Amino acid sequence: MFRVFCLLFATLLALPAHAEGFISRTLNKPVPGGVAVVQLGSAGPAPSASYQGKPVLVVREEGRDWIAVVGIPLSVKPGTQQIQVKQAGASRSLAFQVGAKHYREQRITLKNTRQVNPLPEDLKRINRELAEQTAAYRSFSPGTPSNLVLDKPVNGPLSSPFGLRRFFNGEERNPHSGLDFAVPAGTPIKAPAAGKVILIGNYFFNGNTVFVDHGQGFISMFCHMSKIDVKLGDQVPRGGVVGRVGATGRATGPHMHWNVSLNDARVDPAIFIGAFKP
Ligand SMILES: [Zn+2]
Repeated sequence: MFRVFCLLFATLLALPAHAEGFISRTLNKPVPGGVAVVQLGSAGPAPSASYQGKPVLVVREEGRDWIAVVGIPLSVKPGTQQIQVKQAGASRSLAFQVGAKHYREQRITLKNTRQVNPLPEDLKRINRELAEQTAAYRSFSPGTPSNLVLDKPVNGPLSSPFGLRRFFNGEERNPHSGLDFAVPAGTPIKAPAAGKVILIGNYFFNGNTVFVDHGQGFISMFCHMSKIDVKLGDQVPRGGVVGRVGATGRATGPHMHWNVSLNDARVDPAIFIGAFKP
C-alpha cells in the first residue's frame, strides 16, 4: 500500500503544474522576431496586459488559463523581458525569457536603383506612407481574434523567410519583415483569420497593400498585389479573398508577401502556420 502511495506521489510530482494548451505550444517561440505566450492564470475577470507600453493580445485558451500573446520585436536582445498585467484593479509584472536566433543574409540586385537609394521627392512619399502604416499597426480594437493558429493565405512553397538581413545592390536595408510564398501572379490571397480592412494603399516599397485587423493588435499585411478585392472598412471572413498576387512596389517578381504584427511588433508569420524553424 505504501509503495503504491509513493508511486502515485512520484507521478503527481512529475506532471507540470500547468499543462499548456495547443495555442500556447504552437505560438510560444520566445526569440527576437518571435512570440512569447505568458500564462496569466485562470482566476478572475479578463486581465489586460502591456509590453513596452503597448497593449497586448489577451485571450482565454479554451478550457484553460488566460494567456498574453506577446510580439517580440526583432531589435530585442536575448534576456529577461517583462509584461505589465492589470486585473480587477491590481497590477503586477510578469517576466519571460527571450532566447537567441540567428537570421541569415540575403543579397538582392535591383535594376531600379531608385528603389535602393530613393530620390528626395521619393523620401517625402516614403515617410508619409511609413507613418500611415505604423499608425495601422498600432491600432488596437477590442474584439477577440477568430483564430490564433492561422490558415496559409495561399497554397504554395515558402520562399524568403522572415528576418533575413537584406542587402540591396550591396547596401544593407531593413530586415525582411514578413514571409514570402512563391506563387504565380493572380493567385487569390485569403484572409488567414476573420478581420476588418483598416488600411489600403499603393506604396513606394510595398505596392498594392491591404491591412487586415484580426483583433487586439493582431494584424496581417499583404503587399505587392496585382489587384485589391476589398474596400476600407470591409469585414472579411476567415478565408475571404483580399486580393491577388502581383509584383507591385519593390519586388523582383510576383510573390505573396505577408506580415504578421502583434503589439506593433512584426513577428515571424511561420509561427502561426506551424512552420517555424528555430
Ligand atoms: Zn517579402
